[in-house]
Amino acid sequence: MSSCISACGARGMVSRLAQLPTRILCKIGAAPGLMRLRRGAPVILMYHGVTADEGRGLVNHSGKHVNIDLFRRQLQMLSRCRRVAPLAVLVQALQRHEDVSGMVALTFDDGYLNNVECAAPVLIDLKLPATFFLTTGFIGAARWAWVDRLEAALHAAAKGQFRISLLDERVQLDAMMQRVELLRSIKVVLKRMSWDAAEASVRELEAQLHVEPTEPWGIYRFMSWDHARQLVGAGFEVGAHTVNHALLSRMPLAEAAHEISASREHIVAEVGSCSATFCYPNGKRTDYTQEVMEICRRQFTAALSTELGAARSDELYELRRVPVDAATIEDRLASLVVQAA
Ligand SMILES: [Zn+2]
Repeated sequence: MSSCISACGARGMVSRLAQLPTRILCKIGAAPGLMRLRRGAPVILMYHGVTADEGRGLVNHSGKHVNIDLFRRQLQMLSRCRRVAPLAVLVQALQRHEDVSGMVALTFDDGYLNNVECAAPVLIDLKLPATFFLTTGFIGAARWAWVDRLEAALHAAAKGQFRISLLDERVQLDAMMQRVELLRSIKVVLKRMSWDAAEASVRELEAQLHVEPTEPWGIYRFMSWDHARQLVGAGFEVGAHTVNHALLSRMPLAEAAHEISASREHIVAEVGSCSATFCYPNGKRTDYTQEVMEICRRQFTAALSTELGAARSDELYELRRVPVDAATIEDRLASLVVQAA
């Protein structure tokens, strides 16, 4: 009798708890439980890279590359609690207004080499689908993304005092915090520039920091076209993310149209197919326009933004995603997924 009373009491407590807002339940650590109990809105996860290397110094300070063991645990949790589906299946279900509850699709932006070397083997092992969006001008090109080159340059700089013309000041680089602070200040300035101008500024900064220019190394390397073909051969999908990681709202429309269609055509020519979903570089609402969305409508069935939230059928050309980075431990991921709406 007493165990019945306590069981009833526990059930009452659970049902009272379940009525609390999701936000509060996540704050008290109930997100993994909610993942199991509720199917929830469909979610498209956005990764960049997966790495087996330990972070050191400023390398991966951005957190774009998720530790491979954490990646496996994230995927195992998603497999247990969600329907992990190919992006094309999720998009088609959204188009047809079918039941998409509990669906999750996995996407990787930019085309980093570790997508092939680290992420794909785990995905294959767990039999999970994914779509890899390639910035085609970087594929097989030993080319730096300027944000990566900036991070690598500040990591490599020796200790000492340096004159930084971009900020018009002298900076002391001894402690890690000073490097982190300089990285933050320079990023603020460069994010306002065109990609070409930002690239040129990072090269100038390298000279001022007495850092020898190198080809991309470690987590900063991009895959080759052979790697892209390997991904497709293994059953994954690759998609277009422009040629030069162009911010499409900040260039003439004809140039934006070329960035979109040339990346798609290059992928088709190299690997034989391209995802019917496009992926906007940077992906915030200010990074694409109605005209850019119109160009995408003519060539693709959907497009992905980086705005946070669940995927909705009334937003097919600016589908929201949930970002995953090096700090997204399983509880945090569960919390992001159950709160996406
Ligand atoms: Zn990108």
